[in-house]
Amino acid sequence: MEHNLKDYDEAVKNVTWQEEERFFSWHETGKVNIAHEAIDRHALSSQKDRTALLFKDDTREEVYSFAELKALSDKFAVVLRKIGISKGDRVFIFMPRCPELYIALLGIVKIGAIAGPLFEAFMEEAVKDRLQDSGAVAVVTTPKLKQRILRDQLPDLKHLILVGTEEVGPGEISYEREMAVASADFQIEWMQREDPYIIHYTSGSTGKPKGVVHVHNAMIHQHRSGRWAYDLRQGDVFWCTADPGWVTGTSAGMFAPWLNGVTVVLRGGRFNPEDWYDTIERFKVTVWFVAPTAFRMLMAAGADVVRKFNLSSLRHILSAGEPLNPEVYRWGLEAFKIGIHDNWWMTETGSTTISNFPSVPIKPGSMGKPVPGIYATIVDDQGNELPPNQMGNLAIRTGWPAMMRAIWNNPAKYEEYFRLKGWYISGDSAYKDEDGYFWFQGRIDDVINTSGERVGPFEVESRLVEHPAVAEAGVIGKPDPVRGEIIKAFISLRTGYQPSDELKEEIAQFVKTGLAAHAAPREIEFRDKLPKTRSGKIMRRVLKAWELGLPTGDLSTMED
Ligand code: ATP
Ligand code: MG
Repeated sequence: MEHNLKDYDEAVKNVTWQEEERFFSWHETGKVNIAHEAIDRHALSSQKDRTALLFKDDTREEVYSFAELKALSDKFAVVLRKIGISKGDRVFIFMPRCPELYIALLGIVKIGAIAGPLFEAFMEEAVKDRLQDSGAVAVVTTPKLKQRILRDQLPDLKHLILVGTEEVGPGEISYEREMAVASADFQIEWMQREDPYIIHYTSGSTGKPKGVVHVHNAMIHQHRSGRWAYDLRQGDVFWCTADPGWVTGTSAGMFAPWLNGVTVVLRGGRFNPEDWYDTIERFKVTVWFVAPTAFRMLMAAGADVVRKFNLSSLRHILSAGEPLNPEVYRWGLEAFKIGIHDNWWMTETGSTTISNFPSVPIKPGSMGKPVPGIYATIVDDQGNELPPNQMGNLAIRTGWPAMMRAIWNNPAKYEEYFRLKGWYISGDSAYKDEDGYFWFQGRIDDVINTSGERVGPFEVESRLVEHPAVAEAGVIGKPDPVRGEIIKAFISLRTGYQPSDELKEEIAQFVKTGLAAHAAPREIEFRDKLPKTRSGKIMRRVLKAWELGLPTGDLSTMED
């Protein structure tokens, strides 16, 4: 489906969520399961042989049709039922990116259980916290990763399902062995639209990760994000590089494309620019969804690497998860000859909520406009909508289809998001311009109040990274008796630059002249690396805690 700007303007005025329902078989049958809509619906149609999944890592390269994924996930569902797992149980997946991860996730959802994908880099405590919090009864994992699961501290955990071995101990079963004997006879569990299908723990950028619960009904929104924001069309090959341990990896990486009948690419292994470009060339990727941190790494690897590959299949590029600096946008435009489309959402929003659409001109540095059906705005602390160009709370009118339905085990936290009647309060600070574009400023807690001026860290960081010496920057407010707060910047330098007082002065001056005097950092500290989450987000709360000598809080998602 192709859209133009007029379509967008019409759609935001008129399109209802009900209209999206006609794409699903439950619209006619009344029988609901997101896994059925994503895989089985196509597998049972004339499209059954269409490619659902293209996989490659350093040892395997495989292709799966919709029919094959249906058969395999049905079998896995049979395996789960055989060991007594049923509707509502939490079943976690702790595995590197590979087809079995996807098959397991679909199988879990097919029996009405709740899937909990965990990023493979988590260590013992992080894994334990999440399994304990959710009361998981089973984990699908590998012989290597199972060593990080502290079973004796997890009384609810009854089963480990091990992928890649036939040797198992007590309380363990072998994926390969069970799949080989599993009956193909399977009846999917029909669900209510409001039944949960997945728990995603948040990235932990601002504090202890929250177990965000999403329901089958999210498919309506994921389908629309696929059509409108990701620009998915018949025959597309879609590659979202996010790990399924984060919401982007499942909602955008699996469900949005599959619900739209589109081929998904999965690349295992570690990040490497050459492998990534090779993946695009090899699978003729048409739509590519990346995070800013990865774009910055590709940028550091240089444009020469890009030129070694034929990337002409690319039609649409997206970014989400962190602010996309205009500098990175400009580099992308030059390297790939197409603009990077930033889109904003959160684990809690379940799918893309604000986006730069293919049909709407991009303003570099802006997150774009609301997905049709979403009403987003800026409100003050009492819930009053603010006029254009005023910084405030980024809020969404409640009730969109992929909205989280609970924070597992923490109803009080859930209520906090909805404390202002009728609004979901995101915790992000932004403003909307007179054309309806949203501009991210920072996390509410990160907004700096210096001499009575409110400064969003993102603006300062974006200016900082335009300086040739600056690779990455994290900006915080540091308490100051005179100014309330002063701006302090933590900077990692590009290779070839040495820290010095002159350089600090030059960089501060660069912000002063390019942005504003009050926005220039009064203190700069050079660091080899900035603290980041494993999903690649700069952890400003950690910078702040270090600076003030305070406890750093939950570090389970921090990179090594
Ligand atoms: P936690 O909630 O545990 O502190 P987190 O908020 O980083 O972690 P996620 O749900 O993965 O967890 O990330 C959502 C946040 O990421 C948003 O609130 C926003 O701050 C940031 N974000 C996502 N997309 C964008 C974007 N396009 N531009 C700017 N920021 C973005
Ligand atoms: Mg958050």
